[in-house]
Amino acid sequence: MKIERLTESVVAKIAAGEVVERPASVVKELLENAIDAGATEVHVAVGGGGRRLIRVSDNGSGIRAGEVELAFARHATSKLRDIDDLDTMRTLGFRGEALASISAVGHVSLMTCHRDETAGTQIRVEGGRTTNKKAVGAPAGTVITVENLFYNVPARLKFLKADTTEKRHITTVVTNYALAYPGVRFRLEHDGREVLHTNGTGALADVLVTMLGYEDFKHMLEVDAPAEVRAGRTPVGVYGYASAPDLNRGDRTRIMLFVNGRWVQDSKVTYAVIQAYHSLLMNGRYPVAVLMIDIPPDEVDVNVHPTKAEVRFRNPDAVFTAVQRAVRKAVIEQAEPTREMRGFGGADGPPESMASTNLGRVEQVPLNMPLESAGQYARQRDLYAAPTLPDDDDIAIPEGPDGPRRPRTLPLLRVVGQVGASYIVAEGPSGMYLVDQHAAHERILYEQFMAAYAAQEPMRQMTLDGQTVQLSPSDVGLLHEFADELSALGLELESFGPGMVKVLSVPAMIADADPHAVIGGIVSDLARGASPGEQAIEDRIVKRICKQVAVKAGQVLSHEEMQGLIRQLERCESPQTCPHGRPTILHMSSDQLAREFGRK
Ligand code: ADP
Ligand code: MG
Repeated sequence: MKIERLTESVVAKIAAGEVVERPASVVKELLENAIDAGATEVHVAVGGGGRRLIRVSDNGSGIRAGEVELAFARHATSKLRDIDDLDTMRTLGFRGEALASISAVGHVSLMTCHRDETAGTQIRVEGGRTTNKKAVGAPAGTVITVENLFYNVPARLKFLKADTTEKRHITTVVTNYALAYPGVRFRLEHDGREVLHTNGTGALADVLVTMLGYEDFKHMLEVDAPAEVRAGRTPVGVYGYASAPDLNRGDRTRIMLFVNGRWVQDSKVTYAVIQAYHSLLMNGRYPVAVLMIDIPPDEVDVNVHPTKAEVRFRNPDAVFTAVQRAVRKAVIEQAEPTREMRGFGGADGPPESMASTNLGRVEQVPLNMPLESAGQYARQRDLYAAPTLPDDDDIAIPEGPDGPRRPRTLPLLRVVGQVGASYIVAEGPSGMYLVDQHAAHERILYEQFMAAYAAQEPMRQMTLDGQTVQLSPSDVGLLHEFADELSALGLELESFGPGMVKVLSVPAMIADADPHAVIGGIVSDLARGASPGEQAIEDRIVKRICKQVAVKAGQVLSHEEMQGLIRQLERCESPQTCPHGRPTILHMSSDQLAREFGRK
């Protein structure tokens, strides 16, 4: 064959092949554009595994009417001007290739309205040529529709897998971006059926619950290792979640890595995660992890591959070490809830059943629970006034002076009612939730108390009448011995005659509680002494106080009280267990409900 210049359209198709390998690559590029445009809501509708239709709508900045055609030109971008800009790149796109490539291999139509302009623009692009441009009324944002993908590249069409495979790839892509951008609401539909929906709360935990379900999310441990800033060291921050060893899989596909908000595949860093579980997982088993790696942009080259799934680190060892350490620390420190259980065992006996900590195993909820008798009990208890709980947002969980509001760790739950005056029935995005009111309140109080304690500002309340409490001399001795610890927690006592103490101040939380009961409980805890491996004495005292102050099982709560309690639980760091390690929530997914009722 003699040498000839390729035609423009062949060049375009070859170049497009680099960016657009399959329908999921189109979704990826369009999602990146939406995110770069600052969208807070992104809707992806897919038909026929993406071959027939891909439509991505966003509420981002939109494109100015005068720039619409240019957006489809190759190497036209609003995100990069100079090669040095690559070093400070914070956007996902920068090559200015995606729209050009996609429109070379599919029928594209675009509707967009820039947020500073009054009229929007609609345009069609086929075979790289723009047609039918017209002004339209549209809300700010962009809708891009891609139809008949690869209609003009039969070779590529042949290589596409079954619709189900392409669907799966698309779902993976959308899930990845939902994880990387928890502040954005994502919705994905395949052939009109919604398969993914995130709520955009900004909490990674919320997205993870959507993705993994409660059952698995319960086994995820938080990883939080901010970058160490030291001269000559690459600062690498590592955040996210990694599974406790009891949640694992037969392959590595659930180890998901993000570098500066970009999903990447990197076998070395993946190996660092696996290494962190050394001796904790059997051979051939791999953890589940979602990790956000933050690194200065100039420490990472994202310009390795057109689809940008690979990156090159300037100092790969630093990244490897940071990830391995961060995950290891999380796993070692948090993965042994049984230790807390043991601490609890002494006074109240072991938790009824360790198996019952298995959330979501609905078979374990005794369905033959004698509801009537529970109701009777409730009515009796109703005679006592239920303490009013602070309403929804009035009481924020204490935090640093200007600290941000605690992130949500549970999906938004709507209270439906109360069962047996002990359990709150709530509805969430993925089914029904049963909350143990006592355990949940214990958790809330515990975290409030610990936050104040950590900030060294115990919620102390002076007692005016200086109540006295009668105790045995040895008990008084014990209280003396631990006077410092007790005072740090807000409980100040003074000897007052033999076997008597006077209460000078109490933690505000227990101001209304019976001092005899609280102090009696604390004394019996102190008397037990710390056994090796048990938590600090302060921790034990706080747990005791919380247990005594928390609403009890059998206490009738008003709707507002329940909603207030749930709102606070939603922002606890570890909402799924009480401070003693017992579960606070049972979850029955919509799927399970359907199955139980024989609808599936
Ligand atoms: P890149 O993202 O690398 O800049 P693209 O071809 O993906 O290249 O997009 C070209 C340009 O079109 C972008 O730089 C951006 O200015 C504009 N653009 C594309 N999609 C959107 C969108 N959803 N919202 C706003 N602007 C967009
Ligand atoms: Mg782009």
